[in-house]
Amino acid sequence: MNIEIMGLGPYQANCSIIWGEAQKAWVVDPGAEAERILAFLDDRQLTLEVVVLTHYHFDHISALNDLMERRVTPVYLHHADASYAFSPMNSMPPYPVTRKPVNLVLEGDDGDLIEHGGISTRIITTPGHTPGGWCLHFEKENLLVAGDTLFAGSVGRTDLPGGSWETLTESLKKLKKLPDETRVVCGHGPASSIGSEKQRNPYL
Ligand SMILES: [Zn+2]
Ligand SMILES: [Zn+2]
Repeated sequence: MNIEIMGLGPYQANCSIIWGEAQKAWVVDPGAEAERILAFLDDRQLTLEVVVLTHYHFDHISALNDLMERRVTPVYLHHADASYAFSPMNSMPPYPVTRKPVNLVLEGDDGDLIEHGGISTRIITTPGHTPGGWCLHFEKENLLVAGDTLFAGSVGRTDLPGGSWETLTESLKKLKKLPDETRVVCGHGPASSIGSEKQRNPYL
């Protein structure tokens, strides 16, 4: 499995492009700059296979409409975030309002698998930063794509619509149970690992 991480847009939200031998790409959190994502796919001759949104915030979803003009794929989002994601409230210039995609898949509970293009990931629901936030655990690869739930040395804020500190605290307990060697791609900033966050992150 290959992964490319790009910081996109004014908020530099990390977008992960993930693919395997089948050359079918997952795009996780296309937050802005669709042309950069599409140019990467073209360079590597990858087909856009599926989009997964870790949570509803505009800095993680705003390139979605442009990607769907290239190819209509399934778009995964937890149902608890759906009412926020495509609301006009979920935007701030220069980020546009995101239209609801036609192939929106709202299923996905804790422990469910998402499988596409020869790659699979297990969902760990981690509400708190948003009501429907989740992390993607690529178990074979020891990789966690954490969205804004966990950062290197910090955690996601809980003062935005639908956020809850108590809920986030419970979610972090789940992440602490993962193997120390699990690499963590964070929603912003550098990558980390569960082991080093357990050592130095005061919230863990
Ligand atoms: Zn963010
Ligand atoms: Zn966020």
